[in-house]
Amino acid sequence: MRIIESVSGMQAAADELRASGRKIGLVPTMGYLHEGHLELMRAAAKQADVVVASIFVNPTQFGPGEDLDRYPRDFDGDVRKAGGAGVEVIFAPTAEEMYPPGFQTKVRVERVTKHLCGLSRPVHFEGVTTVVCKLFNCVKPDVAVFGEKDFQQLVVIERMVIDLNMEVRIVGVPVQREPDGLAMSSRNAYLNAEERRSALSLFKSLELARRLYNGGERDARVIRDAVIGLISSHPFTSVDYVEVCDPVSLEAVDVLKGRTLLALAVNVGRTRLIDNCTLGG
Ligand code: AMP
Repeated sequence: MRIIESVSGMQAAADELRASGRKIGLVPTMGYLHEGHLELMRAAAKQADVVVASIFVNPTQFGPGEDLDRYPRDFDGDVRKAGGAGVEVIFAPTAEEMYPPGFQTKVRVERVTKHLCGLSRPVHFEGVTTVVCKLFNCVKPDVAVFGEKDFQQLVVIERMVIDLNMEVRIVGVPVQREPDGLAMSSRNAYLNAEERRSALSLFKSLELARRLYNGGERDARVIRDAVIGLISSHPFTSVDYVEVCDPVSLEAVDVLKGRTLLALAVNVGRTRLIDNCTLGG
């Protein structure tokens, strides 16, 4: 396992790997790795000859008052887990290395960032696209792997790669869940026992939506209301959004036709959790 902290060191390592004919797979993460991240790393190992995982808690994708300061970290544990999942190189720059004095450039994707999480986190996706663009320029990957857990992020990155003619293939991996259905997330570590029980309402509401859909329901409002009703009946929950939308444009739909995305964000206590599923198609 190689651990690289500098941009120039990472670029030199990437050049060497590419010169030796090895295809590079990148898995960008903010660390505190769980099985969901490791599944992305295993997927990358199938698609590339060498897997690079980045571990970087990117300050620019957190808004004021969000959890940047308390975001969980466990670098030694991360190195061990990533090694077990086939990662050969960890790129772990500091914030100063990524954003040195004088830094002033941003990458912004327009329309698909305006929906869902973009409404309550207005600077989030600009931070994500800027850092992912920088990571691509540091690691020079042939393929980059992202989780469908952050469905909107995946859509935004795919848009950026097309629009900016980036030569990297984007691969999505399905949401990885705990045995009871809760989507794995580094932020689950914030939940106390009661909140953890209420957090299961997100998955239960997706299952309810799927049952309604399979029973023939196609009215987005009926599905949305049922999801909101189920989540709101659990203590400590406050719904940020529940949207039924097109999985490419992320625009809300009234009637479900073809493949449709059901996406939601819910505060459970002080912890903001997201989840989603697709219906039909
Ligand atoms: P994060 O460290 O939260 O920024 O996540 C890094 C990558 O792991 C992103 O592409 C996420 O979508 C992905 N990821 C996080 N949790 C999961 C999960 N439960 N299932 C699939 N992918 C995930």
